[in-house]
Amino acid sequence: MTAFETSAEVEAYLSGDRITCLICGRSFRGVCHHAAKAHGVSATEYKLRFGIAVTRGVCGAGTRAAMRAAQKRICTPEVVAERVVRLQGARQLRRCGGEYPPYARDAAARMAIRSHGRERKLDERDFAAVVAAIRAGQTAWGACHTAGLPGCAWLYQQIVADPARRAAWDAMWESLPFKQQAASKKLGRRFADAVAERRALGMSYPKIAADLGVSEYAVKCRCSRAYRKRKKNQDR
Ligand SMILES: [Zn+2]
Repeated sequence: MTAFETSAEVEAYLSGDRITCLICGRSFRGVCHHAAKAHGVSATEYKLRFGIAVTRGVCGAGTRAAMRAAQKRICTPEVVAERVVRLQGARQLRRCGGEYPPYARDAAARMAIRSHGRERKLDERDFAAVVAAIRAGQTAWGACHTAGLPGCAWLYQQIVADPARRAAWDAMWESLPFKQQAASKKLGRRFADAVAERRALGMSYPKIAADLGVSEYAVKCRCSRAYRKRKKNQDR
């Protein structure tokens, strides 16, 4: 069989409920699957060979109607919006200015919340929020486990990766009251110096503890032989 020459011929060929395969003459509800499977001819090759527009489906009227109905059922506005979000992946979105079209914005937010629990990427605002929460009296662990604030892993990565952030973090930490540092089990150099100073004045452990607002145990740990040894190694 040679190619169709007029559109009327094509319409006549596609109008029935079953379509005849132009290669072998058997008839099917849809020819594309059959042509690929039985003859190794792809749908596009089949259409090109017989002069059918590549945008046409080579299937019977009933099948076409069923497919159209299914497509309508599947393509709700929500589904279309999510498809847009998936197609415009994050990288591509950055390239085109970082804005989803209006109808896809809700879907983008929904998908972001579903995949990583929040609507936008974490940035310096979140870092500042954690620092503010700790300054306000929370422990580091508590701040990282507060809803809306980033988790420990992200925070640690930020501190390690960026020297400026590390400096800001260390400065913030050293400025905290000893009691709060002790609550996070992270007493710094300032504490060690304060203890050493009071020891030199001959103060007792309980007195130093009361003076600095921490437990006696915390003071004793700083004065232990193991601690002095560790400090000596660090200073070297
Ligand atoms: Zn065939």
